[in-house]
Amino acid sequence: MTSHTKRRLFDRCRKSLAAAGIAVPEQAILCPLCWQQKLLDELTVDHVVSESLGGKKTTLTCCRCNNTYGSSLESDLQALHKACRFWKGGQQLAGELRIEQDRAAVKVQRGSSGSGMHVKVVAKASNPAQITSMEHRVQSGEVQQLQLRLSYGYKSQRAIIALVRCAYLALFRCFGYEYACDRFVQELRKAMANSVSARAQEGERYETSLVLLKPLVVGLSDCNWPFSCAYVIAPGRLAWKDKHQGADFFFVLFRWPSSIGDTRYGVFMPQPGQSEEAFLGPLRQAAAEHASVRLGPVPVGLLFC
Ligand SMILES: [Zn+2]
Repeated sequence: MTSHTKRRLFDRCRKSLAAAGIAVPEQAILCPLCWQQKLLDELTVDHVVSESLGGKKTTLTCCRCNNTYGSSLESDLQALHKACRFWKGGQQLAGELRIEQDRAAVKVQRGSSGSGMHVKVVAKASNPAQITSMEHRVQSGEVQQLQLRLSYGYKSQRAIIALVRCAYLALFRCFGYEYACDRFVQELRKAMANSVSARAQEGERYETSLVLLKPLVVGLSDCNWPFSCAYVIAPGRLAWKDKHQGADFFFVLFRWPSSIGDTRYGVFMPQPGQSEEAFLGPLRQAAAEHASVRLGPVPVGLLFC
């Protein structure tokens, strides 16, 4: 990434800070993720969605937030995308097959159109004596139970944090500090920042942060919004209980392309001025009732990125 791009993004951030009325020293901006003052040299050009998932849009974050935490969260999203492709029948996953005490390393592929699982033993990574023993037992018909364990390679909690991080950066790129300095948006940012390090994930605050972040993320199996980039942002309103209650949101819809069908996830983020209760109430209720989220057609003119 050229220093010209970095300088351009830096100047844009400086203007945005002034517009939001946030005072920082002349040579610095605030990293949108950790909210620490950083000089140009301490900043990196960060992709809102990683290039490996089709992202092209960039913003500035500090070296620590980009390299230390960004890369590991990115790998969780890549593994999530791989798992989604597996369930569509187009991707092999590593796993382990167990018959009582015997075990073998396997590659598993799901048949297209739900035609079962194809399990192939990886001979090199398995104990030959155990493979022979397993074969004998299967052929003799005495096996009552097979256990198949798949390695998805990601933790769902970390994938949630990574998706909210992408949505937050998408909105920061669009609306700058005027969006990011909103009180409730700051709560979400802190919850993300408190959850990214391995040490933080052992603490009590991690659970509290996940309670805040988890209801924001929804998986979408069926969504026909017309767009071809890595994400779009659509404004909307959550209705709750009666029509007078609700909250205004931005829905950030991610699309990760693949030859066997895209993976789509959405993240609800608050518009400025929303309270936690009014915003998270309907989302928590929907999650508790396992209610599906229905997205109506959105006029193309309302989508932006
Ligand atoms: Zn930072």
